This record gives sequence, structure tokens and C-alpha cells, in this order.
Amino acid sequence: MAKKILVTSALPYANGPAHLGHLVEYVQTDVWVRFLKLTGRDVLYVWASDTHGAPIEINAAKNGMTPDAFAEQWRGRQKQDFEDFLIGFDTFYTTNSPENRKWAVEIFRRLKAGGHIEEKPLEQWYCEVDERFLPDRFVKGTCPNCGAADQYGDVCEVCNKAYASTDLREPYCSLCRNPPVRRTSNHFFFQLEHFRDFLAEYTSREGVLHPAIRNSVKGWIEGGLHDWCISRDGPYFGFEIPDAPGKYFYVWLDAPVGYLSSTEHLVGESRALGDYWGSEADSRIVHFIGKDIVYFHALFWPAMLHAAGLHVPDRIQVHGMLTLGGEKLSKSRGRMVTAREYLDAGLDAEALRWFYASNLGAGPYDVPLAKDEIRNRVNAELVKTLANFVARALTPLKKDFDGRVAIPADDQVSRELWARVLELSGKIHQAYEAVELREATQALVQLGFEANKYLQDRAPWSKRKAGDLEGAHADLSLCANVAWAIGTWLAPILPRSTQRLAAMLGGVAFDPAKLVAGGDFPLPPGTTLGELSHLASPIDDAKLEQLWPEPDAEAAAPATPVKPARPAKTEKTEKAAVTATPAPAPEGIITYDDFAKVELRVGHVLAAERVPKADKLLKLTIDLGEGAPRTIAAGIAEHYEPEQLPGKNVVVVANLAPRTIRGIESRGMLLAGGGDIGKVVLAEVPGIAPGSRVK
Ligand SMILES: [Zn+2]
Ligand SMILES: [Zn+2]
Repeated sequence: MAKKILVTSALPYANGPAHLGHLVEYVQTDVWVRFLKLTGRDVLYVWASDTHGAPIEINAAKNGMTPDAFAEQWRGRQKQDFEDFLIGFDTFYTTNSPENRKWAVEIFRRLKAGGHIEEKPLEQWYCEVDERFLPDRFVKGTCPNCGAADQYGDVCEVCNKAYASTDLREPYCSLCRNPPVRRTSNHFFFQLEHFRDFLAEYTSREGVLHPAIRNSVKGWIEGGLHDWCISRDGPYFGFEIPDAPGKYFYVWLDAPVGYLSSTEHLVGESRALGDYWGSEADSRIVHFIGKDIVYFHALFWPAMLHAAGLHVPDRIQVHGMLTLGGEKLSKSRGRMVTAREYLDAGLDAEALRWFYASNLGAGPYDVPLAKDEIRNRVNAELVKTLANFVARALTPLKKDFDGRVAIPADDQVSRELWARVLELSGKIHQAYEAVELREATQALVQLGFEANKYLQDRAPWSKRKAGDLEGAHADLSLCANVAWAIGTWLAPILPRSTQRLAAMLGGVAFDPAKLVAGGDFPLPPGTTLGELSHLASPIDDAKLEQLWPEPDAEAAAPATPVKPARPAKTEKTEKAAVTATPAPAPEGIITYDDFAKVELRVGHVLAAERVPKADKLLKLTIDLGEGAPRTIAAGIAEHYEPEQLPGKNVVVVANLAPRTIRGIESRGMLLAGGGDIGKVVLAEVPGIAPGSRVK
């Protein structure tokens, strides 16, 4: 376990400000890295700004700047945002660097020498109005896979499938909105199909991908891997391909290379290869990414590394998206809150870190940005349960006992409390290790509950009044040790406040080993408390309201995924309601509004099992793109074997009231055809992202 660990976040594009959606990933990465560092592991957090590609080239021109200066300006601003959110990276470099040019060219050379690059003519979209080839982001149209409108030319934001821009249906130039024409020029293709066997084996290795992601990747591999065009025609901001004037590396070729070149920037070439990226390196490389860029990271990137004789990633940790009212937050859909706006509103970076950590697991489940959820997590859990315990324990110790920690109480009840602290610490440690941050925070809050109960029951303040000074001192000293345990497990999430807490507790450094291995109490008798201050403050409601003016009723909290039925509120129906009262529907006919109450969503089956003593029933675990998967009981056992179901995308009635069937609380219903005497076939929607509405 002495392996050197290299952790990365996806590279933010240097084209605009960081927003709260981006921060989900950086906070998740940072908390994990801080945990590893706290446990003494040899870990680097390497990161960079993604600077190339047509959007930056064009936006720079619009702003009268060179692309270099434009990208560098955004890199600087993003870096400041990340530092203000306490993201503790070891480097935040740039892909527009000499190291990155060297490695992009070198990897291309190795792919070519291995016979994996083909040069062939390619028909591409060319805009005759703008007189240029249209790179992927500059042609939009209908997704060839799922039919979603207004998708970019490289990857669909709805079904996450990557494709060639010429596969788009009804394409238009995103600069002038005219339909483009096809024109031919020569391009370089990476022959991904050469790596089919390697990728099938690699992506099924234990621990590389979460099972929910592994299934879709398996589907992509089985569906056929296409050659990947890795060149673009100029004008293009990027690295020119050697011996191919006017051709540039596609930004998606050199962006992941930034992981390697930033490592080299930080530790030098020989250590970058010897310790981390060389095929012989005894390292563990972990990429944190969002579920929208799985195709690039699970297929293209490992194939490139494998072909170039470099170390392939050991884990690709995929998170879900930040959602508001069930929709992914994105610039194109508005409602974007930038990192800077959040801070400028006077809100606390650590409160957001705690909220994200309490909602993130190792699976690709979305994080709903709901105000109620933020209040519950921050005010009720972090402040009332954890921070208040610390204050209630340390304040009397400081005031009445000169801030001196004594030998902790040693009766049965006190020993039981400390045993629980150690037991929960073991759970928290394991959860952190597995990137199950949500579990870690839940166990920590449980620890807080039990500690508060102890303090309440023992009432050291009453003991002191009754003259039992020694008893009160011993109880408070045990509580000071519990406060130290809380500080240890909070440290990865609240690095700033827990630094203060460590000083309050006499400067005894936080160390998980002391709680996991057992042994003496961490605070030696005689430890003297420092100046006390609040560990965390409640979130300011007025400031939250200022940032998210939408009514909260729309946003779903992950703990209660079944939403009450709500009337459809499309603009059209609202307008109609103002101008005319609809006539009552004839008997047996429902109105559109009745139908719209039924919330149909795409569910991805993660697991299926038989139910003992129920011949017709299967118990399914289904991902609806929420905070956690749902359990749904379905009467399909006579028509499907359990092993046929994982990986299928089915249609779920998502807002049906929960029902208990044979002891299983079923939250939702599946749509299927057939029944009575014939075969039953589930309605399937392959290729559509879990949680998408079915209309
Ligand atoms: Zn699509
Ligand atoms: Zn155009």
C-alpha cells in the first residue's frame, strides 16, 4: 500500500468562470485527496486548465485578445476561485505548455509507429458564409443516437454518446445558423477498434469503473468502436501536427495529455515517468470526472496510454451532475451560479463543501441543489449536531477548569461512548477510502448525536454546581477527546475551520490512525485549550434566496426521491389557463393536464433479484439519476431472468406513491407491454440518460 498515488480532476475549460456545477467534482476530489494526505499517503493532486480548441480561439477574437492571453486570463481567475473554495491541488498548470506539446507529439508518434493512425480523406462541415471548416462545437443539430435537438457535433449532452459531426441530423452552423456544406480534406484517425479486446478487459477490471458506468461502457464497446478523428483544420487554437501543415491536434487529444504533462511540470520528467506514468511505475492513477465525459476517459484515453506504453488509469471515479428541479444546471439553460457569485453573496465556502460531501458517493448519482437540503445538512447536521457539541464541551472546560484536559471519565457509560467513537471512526475511515463521502458524513453526524446525548445525560454543569468538580472535569475531558475525533473526520471537508479547532484543542495534530488503531486517548492529560471560536455558522437564508430565486418546491431532495404529483407548468398551459377555462373532459377521457401529472422517467437497471416465496416478483435496483438508486418491485419474474435486466434502460412512473409489496417498499412502477396470458415485454429506451423525462 506504499504506492504513489496521483489524483486528477477533469481539466476546466479556460473559456469562462467556474460555477457551482464545476465545484462538485473539485470538492469531491479535494476531500478525497485531503483524506489520503491526512492518513500519511504519498499522494499528488495534479490538475491543469484546458486551453485549446475553437471556442477559445473564437471568443478570444471577439474580445480582441490572442487565444493565449484569453485562456491565461481565465486560468488565473479560475485558479483564484478554486483556492477560495480551499481546493488544495499541488499544481494547476495549463495544456498550452511546452511539456504538453512535447507529450502530445510524442504520444501521436508512438501511436503512428504502432500502426494505429490512419490518414484518410474526411468529409466535414464547411460554412460558406464564414469561410471555414466547422469544428465540433460550431456545428449543431439533432443527435443521431437519441434524437435530442440542438446537440453539438462531438457528443450528445442528453445521451452522452460521442459521434462524428457529420452524423448529426439537420446540421447548422452555430456562428451564422446557415446549413453548412460538406467538404473534403485529409485527416488523421486513431483506430480505436484495434483496442477492442484490451478495452473490454480493462474496463471490466475490478475497481476501474463503478458498476453503473461499466454497463454503459460495455454497451459502447459491444456496439462497435469507430475510428476517432484526432486532427482539425486551421484556424484552430492548439498544437500543429508535425509534418502536416495546417492540421492541428483536436483538443480532446491534448487535453488528457495535460494530466501527464502537468505531472512532469510538478516533479520533472524522470519522476513523472518513473514514479507515475511509465508502464513499470508502481503507482495508482485516479481520475475524477463527470458522467458527461466517460467516453473520452474510459475508452480513448486508456487506449492511447496503452498504445503509447504508458500507465493506464487505475480508477475512473465518475460523479453525477448538479441539478435544479431535476434538470442539469448549465450555462445554456440559465440559472447558473458562479463560484464568485456564491462567495460575493457572503456565503461560506466550507458550507458548500459540507453540503456536497453529504450528497456525494462513489456512484454517478446527481446532486440536487435544493435549498431545504442545504439548510438541513448545514444548519441541522454540521452546526447543531457537530459544531454545537464542540462548543458545549470546550466552553465549560475553558471557563471552569483553566482549559486543562484531565483523565477522561472511565465508568461503563463513558467507556461505551468512546468505544462507539472508535467503531464509527472505523466506518468513516472505510467510507472515505471508498470515496463514499455521503456515508462518511452520515456516520460522523451519528457520532455527533451520541456525543450530544452523553453530554446531556451527564450534565457536567449540574455536577459542578453540586460540588463534584472532579466528575465534571472527567466528563468534559472525555468530550474534548470526542471533539478531537470530530475534528479529525471533518478535516478533509472543512480544512480551514478544523485548523482552528486543532489550535483550540491545544495543537494536537489530527491523525486518523489514533482512532482506527485504538490505543491511548489522543489528548494527553494536561493538554491546554487555546482560544475558542465557532467551528461553523448556520447558512444565511436571505443570501441563499438571493442566489436561487426559484421556489424550492421544484427541487427534489435525495432523501425523498418520490415527488408529489405536481401540475404541468409549461409556459403554454399557463398562458392557456389565463385566457380560458378548459371545458371539462368527457367521461373516460383525461385532459392533457391529467396526463402531465404522471412523471415518466428513464431508469437504468443496476441489479435484479428474485423475491423468496413470490414467483411473479423481481426486486430491482434502479438508477433514476437521483441522489441514490430506488428499489422497485415488478411482477415480471415469469418473463425475465434477473441476470437479463442489469444494464437495461426502462421507463419508470417516478411519482407514484410508495407501496409495500411482500415486505419490499417499492418506489415507482415499470411500463411494459403484453400481460394477462401472453408474454410481457418491458418498455425500453436504450441510450437515454437515467432520470431523463419520457414524454
Ligand atoms: Zn443523444
Ligand atoms: Zn456560418
